Amino acid sequence: MQTSGAKLKVGKNRNQCQACKQYFNSNSAFTYHRIGEHGVDRRCMTVEEMLGRGMDKNQAGYWVKDKGTFKHG
Ligand SMILES: [Zn+2]
Repeated sequence: MQTSGAKLKVGKNRNQCQACKQYFNSNSAFTYHRIGEHGVDRRCMTVEEMLGRGMDKNQAGYWVKDKGTFKHG
């Protein structure tokens, strides 16, 4: 699923990372993709890293932590 250039809605839980511009289905999924130590090497996971850790995009195009539970992120 390719979503680059597409405008997705953000809201109460769904959000877009201002650093990597990816869309997330929940705050927990958003938090999950941020790795490293605060103030040291805090950064976003790459798409490859997210996929490698079991994250995936749901049908709507938002990243979720586990596709099997994407309703809850
Ligand atoms: Zn990010």
